[in-house]
Amino acid sequence: MPRPFRRLSIEQFARELEEYPFGARRISAVHMHHTFHPDHSEWRGERSIEAMWRFHTAVRKWSDIAQHVTIDPQGSIWTGRPWISVPASAAGHNGTAAAHPFMFEMIGNFDIGHDRLAGPQLHAAIEVVALVQERFQLPPESLRFHNQMSSKTCPGSSLSYEEILAQVRGRRASLPDRPERAAASVPHTPSARSALCVGINTYPDAPLEDAVADALLWSRALQRLGFQTTIVTNCDATRANLVRALEQLITGARPGDVLVFQYAGHGTTVRDLDGDELDGYDEVICPYDYATGALLIDDDIARIFRALPDGVNLTCFIDCCHSGTITRFAAGPPTASNGFRRARFIRATAGLERAHAEFRRTLGALSREAPAPMREVLFAACRPEEVAYENGGHGEFSRRGVALLEAGIAGVTNAEFQRRVTVAFGPRPLQHPSLDCAPAARSRRLLEPHAG
Ligand SMILES: [Zn+2]
Repeated sequence: MPRPFRRLSIEQFARELEEYPFGARRISAVHMHHTFHPDHSEWRGERSIEAMWRFHTAVRKWSDIAQHVTIDPQGSIWTGRPWISVPASAAGHNGTAAAHPFMFEMIGNFDIGHDRLAGPQLHAAIEVVALVQERFQLPPESLRFHNQMSSKTCPGSSLSYEEILAQVRGRRASLPDRPERAAASVPHTPSARSALCVGINTYPDAPLEDAVADALLWSRALQRLGFQTTIVTNCDATRANLVRALEQLITGARPGDVLVFQYAGHGTTVRDLDGDELDGYDEVICPYDYATGALLIDDDIARIFRALPDGVNLTCFIDCCHSGTITRFAAGPPTASNGFRRARFIRATAGLERAHAEFRRTLGALSREAPAPMREVLFAACRPEEVAYENGGHGEFSRRGVALLEAGIAGVTNAEFQRRVTVAFGPRPLQHPSLDCAPAARSRRLLEPHAG
């Protein structure tokens, strides 16, 4: 891709990547960098790309601009050196003509206290990593930060490798399957600890502010406890993607594994369409696209959990309202800085009920399956008659739950964790977190493999 440099959308990049004549050459990794200079304030579009090219060729004496693509602050992807040529990424890590990394630069200085990697630029970076990995069937861990290969801070001290990696995993999980993908699955390691962390803020009609921060908070705490986490947020958290990610979490598990499903976002209830709920309502998680009727109802989750292999410990942390008895609350207004609390609850309108009924029809016959005994352990943010709140950066439940995880959980049972969360809400709580599980599971250790 010689000069002139071209600006591509994500869709154009995806197409060019599919069609690019790589021949027998293989991409073996994806290297992430930031430019440092220009930073966001110095970015001048194509002129900046040209200036980088001049610097790399005239001063550094490289054959071409160092990187294969450059991602600008608006999330556009600029072409760079040909994708079949070895990059100038990091000494000793640039590969060979037969197999080399794909290198990209992000315009900005992402060291702490400077630019922030967010919005469309972060989105494009995750897309580039996921698409290149998918094209060459590489594992998510084939992503490398420059600072893992040198003493530089690049791609910036504000970026956490584990967090970016978790977002790449989430994106990979939502990409359509390739035929050869199944064959490339990684061998299973004993007693795996895997978590799916979901947070949704950007509901088109009822945005929240703190749910994505909750997902990142849980993910970080779980990583410290040895979990490999997958983060799915905002517009990636559609019903289809959540079903796929949950199925992936469950079906890959083996006896002795420990799994976590964490959700922060809106909940609601809708009238039960197949008559299996005593109170006539289904409890619902609201995916990003819920307004189309694409609800994730308790029956859907129960169906997925039915595939849980014996001997697997699955624990859910659900920070939303989930009750059929809440009728007084609609979604709260945006939080002002005065500490107003926002309810994580959508009131199901007649229109949503209709869209839901229509959506279920498109899914086909409503299957009636005998209720299975509860095998998961469910920590919920509040009782059925209550509202789950977010306030000041996090959900009230997530903030306390994660703090307790971080304080140490060695030897702590599920019931004891429940007691500690309740204590953390103080003597006059606005919401009472609840624990729902089979009686025998109360005395089991929190997030530990099942014995035997
Ligand atoms: Zn770098």
